[in-house]
Amino acid sequence: MKTLIKGGRVVDPASRRDGEFDVLVEDGRIARVGKGLQADGAEVFEVKRGWIVAPGLIDIHVHLREPGQEHKETIATGTASAVAGGFTAVACMPNTDPVNDHPGITELILRRAAEAGLARVYPIGAVSMSSRGEQMAELAAQKAAGCVAFTDDGRPVASALLMRRALEYAGMLGVPIVNHCEDPSLKGDGVAHEGFHAARLGLRGIPGVAESIMVERDIALAELTGAPYHVCHMSARQSLRAVRDAKARGMTNVTCEVAPHHFVLTDESLETPIRYDTNVKMNPPLREAADRDSMLEGIADGTVDVIATDHAPHHADEKLVEFDHAPFGIVGLETCVPLVFDKLVHAGRIPLRRAIELLATNPARVFRLPGGTLSEGGPADITVIAPDAAVTIRAAALTSKSKNTPFDGWQLRGGVAATIVGGRIVYRNEAV
Ligand SMILES: [Zn+2]
Repeated sequence: MKTLIKGGRVVDPASRRDGEFDVLVEDGRIARVGKGLQADGAEVFEVKRGWIVAPGLIDIHVHLREPGQEHKETIATGTASAVAGGFTAVACMPNTDPVNDHPGITELILRRAAEAGLARVYPIGAVSMSSRGEQMAELAAQKAAGCVAFTDDGRPVASALLMRRALEYAGMLGVPIVNHCEDPSLKGDGVAHEGFHAARLGLRGIPGVAESIMVERDIALAELTGAPYHVCHMSARQSLRAVRDAKARGMTNVTCEVAPHHFVLTDESLETPIRYDTNVKMNPPLREAADRDSMLEGIADGTVDVIATDHAPHHADEKLVEFDHAPFGIVGLETCVPLVFDKLVHAGRIPLRRAIELLATNPARVFRLPGGTLSEGGPADITVIAPDAAVTIRAAALTSKSKNTPFDGWQLRGGVAATIVGGRIVYRNEAV
């Protein structure tokens, strides 16, 4: 089984390749990358002029909801959404029902992902049993079953002692601890960023320091233990400063991610264009312009390692309630590439190479996953991007089972042309 991906601009930061090349795929692996390769019986995929051939994009922060909340998303619909968004692999969060704190659940997720046969799925195990923050889960057994990282996401690891032990233990296993940083006492029952707009709308606020206090604590514990530590969905400027300072003093074991909504939107969206729109309720909340600008700086200067979507599907009925009562989160898999290209690359904030680093190279590095590069012998996971395609986001047309996006109707430049997993074309966008 051979496929020749002919033409297009190969951009692969890991192998420092950027130029016009063909890619020959054989038996699910990349056989050759070179100029003017011959088809020789291979199926030919013609890449249009100006399109980008990138290593398969990897989203390390996705809620697939199965088992237990299949009315929001399933592993089949979530991975269909992933490949439609250009992602060849996703890492899925353990806050399912039951929580993924056991190898039996990891095995179930992997089996369902194999049945779906779309994106690769890498389960993330819970740090603590039922993510209650008390007793540590069996991390070694979970790693053996296939978990690539550990988190209690949805909740923070509130106990400093548990975080220390988790880092020590996961560090021995060579697997990162990922924390949803949020001091529970400072967060309280807040629903939006503590600032001008929340105050005007009478919404209870969550200050930026609720996040950064825990980021700073965790960095201190990462320094003590030397273990790999990753801050998920960073939103506050104080957190970015803490990570930047840690990296400046040489801490290579600290990494972080930012979600597109935190570098595109601000808390002004609480009022404009719709007041109390529950599709702008997420955790951490949309913050003020200074925070958004700080995320943009961190993305440009290298402080931010990864862009991850925090894809959090919810059923329309669940979001169709008062702002206070709506669940936190938005879907993100299918809006990420257009937002990154439009708001970062075309806006001149980052070069194309950096976008691929944030979406493919670094996610593979931080979670120690296969892929993230188009090197010969590696898995043939490839994303073909049409950087100039005009894309209109249509919530109703999303492949995800849930449609909770604040970007409905947005017109953006840049879209996914095709997604190839293990040499198989699993998604093709006929509209570009
Ligand atoms: Zn979270």
